[in-house]
Amino acid sequence: MGPGPSNVHPKVLDAMSKAPLGHLDPQFIALMDEIKFLLRYTFKTENDSTFVLSGPGSLGMEACLVNLIEPGDKVVVCVGGYFANRMAQIIEKIGGQAVVVKETWGRAIEPQKLEDTLKQNPDTKIVAFVHAETSTGALSNIKQLSEIAHKHNCLVVADVVTSLGATNVLVDDWKLDAVYSCSQKGLACVAGMSPVSFSEEAVLHIKNRKTPIRSWFNDLNLLESYWKGQDKRAYHHTAPSNQFYGLHEALIILKEEGIENAWRRHKENSAKLISKLKMIGLDPFVPEGERIPNLITVKIPFGIDEVNVRNELLNKHNLEIGAGLGELAGKIWRIGLMGYNSNEKMIDYCINAIKDVLK
Ligand SMILES: *Cc1c(COP(=O)(O)O)cnc(C)c1O
Repeated sequence: MGPGPSNVHPKVLDAMSKAPLGHLDPQFIALMDEIKFLLRYTFKTENDSTFVLSGPGSLGMEACLVNLIEPGDKVVVCVGGYFANRMAQIIEKIGGQAVVVKETWGRAIEPQKLEDTLKQNPDTKIVAFVHAETSTGALSNIKQLSEIAHKHNCLVVADVVTSLGATNVLVDDWKLDAVYSCSQKGLACVAGMSPVSFSEEAVLHIKNRKTPIRSWFNDLNLLESYWKGQDKRAYHHTAPSNQFYGLHEALIILKEEGIENAWRRHKENSAKLISKLKMIGLDPFVPEGERIPNLITVKIPFGIDEVNVRNELLNKHNLEIGAGLGELAGKIWRIGLMGYNSNEKMIDYCINAIKDVLK
């Protein structure tokens, strides 16, 4: 019950244990097409360029940024935690000029700060932000951030790594031009796959670049030759077929539940967990209304040796929770209620274990 990976449905593990298929096998191509269809449902998008990268969420982050940004481009990035900071690092590494909108760790990004920064930087081409900042537990209103970015004629790159599948994400309605996620958080699968989606505007922007994309593996044009087309798919890399079986199964489970129902379940269970945490003396770190429903952060009470607590939870109760990251190390715990784990039984298991160890 940390920030992911979490327990996965046994059906996902079963699916992963089937015989591997070659990356151009007709059955495998059909599976890829189904994954694309299921991802469009999950992302709430009609984007044709919706597919999966063979790698963790960080690969999706790099792919979105490296395709859209040319050396010298000004990119405004909203940073209120560890993962948005990673975005800023990548922007600089690929030659972009990162202009940082700073937010307090543990708070949603204040939209007015983005508005002010864009007014001061009218030559900005791209705006980047994180929806659910897993390092702090804060959820930003990215619909509003996206509106502001588009008003200033910018394309939007949004990190929906933790939120996708568990929290409302509406790629088309919110006009998110390039989004990426991972398999092991809100999507309730094992780690190692990164779903991405690019809007028509983003694809056009990429096709009209003046300089080549500074990555081979993440070049959208090359990736599309593998993921698109009727019968002429080209080898790009050897796809990890069994990982894909797992993701396919996890997406089917999500679709069978109905994504709106999954959003509601995560919201309800997070409210239950928080009220029970308060009853054992643990207070949420993030103010109400700004909390990620599938990743709850709590303040560590004064005088508690937090490493010992986590060790004892693991050794005595077989329960993993997350530590603080970056500047929040030693200050908060991060409790995941993701997918298969977001239920009453796990809430009570977690509360009883923490109560026992704290005593
Ligand atoms: C976990 C996470 C990432 C990185 O994903 P990996 O699968 O660990 O590479 C990026 N952004 C956010 C918000 C995350 O929570």
